[in-house]
Amino acid sequence: MPNVNNWQLGREMSYPHEESHPKSQFAFIFNLNRCIGCQTCTIACKSTWTFSKGQELIWWNNVESKPYGGYPNNWDAKLLDLLEQANPGGQVWDTSEKDPTKKPYGVFDGMTIFEAADKKPRTGGPQQALGYLPTDDEWRAPNRHEDTAAGADFKKDAQSGGSVELPEHKVWFFHLARICNHCTYPGCLGSCPRNAIYKRPEDGIVLIDQSRCRGYRKCVEGCPYKKAYYRPTTRTSEKCIGCYPRIEGRDKNASPTGAPAETRCMAACVGNIRLQGVVKIDDNGDWTEDPKNPLYYLIRERELALPLYPQFGTEPNGYYVPPRWVPRNYLKQMFGPGVEHAIEQYSCPDRELLAILQLFRAQQQIIFRYEIEKGPKVAEVEVTMPDGSSKTQEIFNDTVLGYNKFDEEVVRITVEEPTFERSPEHHVNSI
Ligand code: SF4
Ligand code: SF4
Repeated sequence: MPNVNNWQLGREMSYPHEESHPKSQFAFIFNLNRCIGCQTCTIACKSTWTFSKGQELIWWNNVESKPYGGYPNNWDAKLLDLLEQANPGGQVWDTSEKDPTKKPYGVFDGMTIFEAADKKPRTGGPQQALGYLPTDDEWRAPNRHEDTAAGADFKKDAQSGGSVELPEHKVWFFHLARICNHCTYPGCLGSCPRNAIYKRPEDGIVLIDQSRCRGYRKCVEGCPYKKAYYRPTTRTSEKCIGCYPRIEGRDKNASPTGAPAETRCMAACVGNIRLQGVVKIDDNGDWTEDPKNPLYYLIRERELALPLYPQFGTEPNGYYVPPRWVPRNYLKQMFGPGVEHAIEQYSCPDRELLAILQLFRAQQQIIFRYEIEKGPKVAEVEVTMPDGSSKTQEIFNDTVLGYNKFDEEVVRITVEEPTFERSPEHHVNSI
């Protein structure tokens, strides 16, 4: 297999295809501290793309409750176990050497799904990535074991369980929203024997060419996130298409001037957890420096949002702000060694960070650039830091402005939510 550069792993790795990169890349951030598990995103996607015969059990967007929930059941635990069997005790990170551009999280010393491909007995046909085919039963529900918590025994005297104090809850769960990560080195693409899967050169969205697909399900087996699905009525595989008509600015309701708009699942998010963007990529696959792009700022400059299971090796383009109350070892396995740093920053965001966090779900159009107009200091609040200590957070009522692809201002929002007092003679609720 050729060698390619994976910056999330801080090293080169083997991949079934030669290195080749789009000019820009579809990417997104989900802030898990805010997801309420309402599934509005799930239904927004389903009612747009997967409502037809044969798609009944296909959920391009799903929200599962961790640690026990999953769609398909136990998808991540099963793959982590396969990797551990392939490389016992070796799935570890070396964090002694870091470099903000080349190895922001250190170096992954273990095996990716591509490097471990030969370690599993073959079940028919060549295998380019370590994986497995879920059973029909495992696909049955989008979030089995919903809201089942883990941790210490429930205590009678504390209604929420063992502890309700930050920084970590002893009884915990959280909602993990997931879509296809439109990976830089997709496991689905690398596994397809028909070359039916490709990345669009303009935005890195990963698509399955339905006319080439023969339904061998190698993509279903090779996607570590289980985001490629087999549809029995067409006998082909399908996956999230990144709402590409909206990314191309063809939804006139969302973007009258033809600027790129966010996907349906992002635009519908009730909890304001989602921010989607497009980042510039250079010929080596590195992100072009662009600190005024909110995604670049939050992912590369601040390292607040982290990739989901970077150790799988696909360089996923979905990033997550980890939930503050969850045991750190669980989060480190899921998001890599950057967890402590991310949670530390999120616990007490500084002035610029707090302003940029307001951009989540502030507009349907994709924000390519932000500016901040400074406002007065409005509060000081005591916050609990991850080590249990207290810190004073200063809050400034800054205004953050967002600009679309054509540099048109499409967002203007203040840190402090404006409030309006009704005059007493108006009885607005007297229907
Ligand atoms: S998440 Fe899975 S389906 Fe999506 S691009 Fe990555 S490997 Fe392919
Ligand atoms: S709509 Fe937003 S808050 Fe609701 S489940 Fe989806 S990601 Fe979470």
